[in-house]
Amino acid sequence: MTEEAPTIAERKMQFLFALRSRGVTEKRVLEAMEKVDRGHFVRGIFAERAYEDMPLPIACGQTISQPSVVGLMTQALEVQPRDKVMEIGTGSGYQAAVLSHLARRVYTVDRHTRLAREAKTVLDGLGLVNVTTFAADGTLGLPDQAPFDRILVTAAAEDPPGPLLAQLKPGGIMVLPVGQSDTVQSLIRVLKHADSRLEYEELRPVRFVPLLEGMGKDS
Ligand code: SAH
Repeated sequence: MTEEAPTIAERKMQFLFALRSRGVTEKRVLEAMEKVDRGHFVRGIFAERAYEDMPLPIACGQTISQPSVVGLMTQALEVQPRDKVMEIGTGSGYQAAVLSHLARRVYTVDRHTRLAREAKTVLDGLGLVNVTTFAADGTLGLPDQAPFDRILVTAAAEDPPGPLLAQLKPGGIMVLPVGQSDTVQSLIRVLKHADSRLEYEELRPVRFVPLLEGMGKDS
């Protein structure tokens, strides 16, 4: 006897259960993640694994992050409904879609023009009109749109890039993985106090593709 494939409702329940069991407990974050169908952001042979809690390959040799990591990073960012958020590392656009349900505006940047363009198509198709995509080197941030209440970096830098720290509002929060690629990296939360003093907090080990300078070669 062959096992029946899970229904959409069952897959959704399993997806949310996996998030909760890995520490994504905040109601607003879980609600936002419930609204965003990860299946829209994964292509080809990997599409059927979209609801599993694992990173998956996307174009240009990049990856869509593991859903529980997206949830934990989003939770750590403490996004408020009036916030203007910048994400560095659009990739598939999935994380930006989750943020779009929590923030007033989301600016997302990728160094691969192809990824930025494809993510824009998916995000526009979903009617997420408060997200703007940019093809640019995110290590420089977006000086014309700065300052930001929240900054999320989804690629690993050796150190928090100076321009990003400068573009964070006093009272703002930045979450990013730091460390060499191919080794264990740490997820860090940076709080910028009202007097612009920076406070760093180490959250957990993670593994991300590297944050690279300059524009990418599309593939
Ligand atoms: N947040 C994505 C996954 C990110 S993968 C999602 O939800 O799918 C990391 C992304 O960071 C890759 O797409 C890579 O191209 C991008 N990246 C790496 N260095 C960058 C830089 N300097 N500026 C902008 N994007 C960068």
